[in-house]
Amino acid sequence: MKRGDGRKKDELRNVRMEVGVLKRADGSAYVEWGNNKVFASVYGPREVIPRFLARNDRAILRCKYNMTPFSVEDRKRPGPDRRSVEIGKVTAGALEPAVILETYPNSMINVNIEVMQADAGTRCAGITAATLALVDAGIPMRDLVSACAAGKANDGIILDLSKEEDNKGQADIPMAIMPRSEEVTLLQMDGILTEDELEEALKLAVGGCKSIYELQKNALMAKYGE
Ligand code: ADP
Repeated sequence: MKRGDGRKKDELRNVRMEVGVLKRADGSAYVEWGNNKVFASVYGPREVIPRFLARNDRAILRCKYNMTPFSVEDRKRPGPDRRSVEIGKVTAGALEPAVILETYPNSMINVNIEVMQADAGTRCAGITAATLALVDAGIPMRDLVSACAAGKANDGIILDLSKEEDNKGQADIPMAIMPRSEEVTLLQMDGILTEDELEEALKLAVGGCKSIYELQKNALMAKYGE
């Protein structure tokens, strides 16, 4: 099967990552994933505001996902909407198992994801960037979190759907894992797949996450290595 951009069915788009790109954040990262351009920044651990949210046994992790008005083809109305609130929530859920929150009782860690350019797969790019930003902020982690989607378009099961494939696609399954244990921390799906197709797509997505994991480690080595 031939894909619009010439990729093989199990091939990622070009992915580039950089750690520590924003001077005033405690931690930050930039991920370019195909035509997606995403910044993640981490502030904290810091005092919890409002204070009643504080937990005396661990930190709380909050994630905000935002798309700039110029990130999509038709200008997007600025500010939060249903979709961005949902993605912020599932991103927090995807990251939380990896963060050793018990290290910082009574504090909060804020993760901000800014999508500067969107082209399908922004939640996976955001989770991938946020993980690097958490490490850059010096927050203790059990493992990295690596994300990638697989799905179905033109009747084929494929890795990392492009915008074009997503638009006329038959299914999209974003996934995030902690690669060392293969524990799944995010799994969503829209569309319809048979059981066999689902199994094939999940296999592809796990493989994609592991490739992303290698790139994350390289990006961290480039900043902190040796
Ligand atoms: P993801 O970016 O994680 O794949 P979706 O499946 O919800 O999330 O969105 C797919 C793509 O659709 C986005 O990456 C973006 O290119 C586009 N998109 C999302 N929301 C909007 C919007 N409000 N206006 C225009 N395009 C959008």
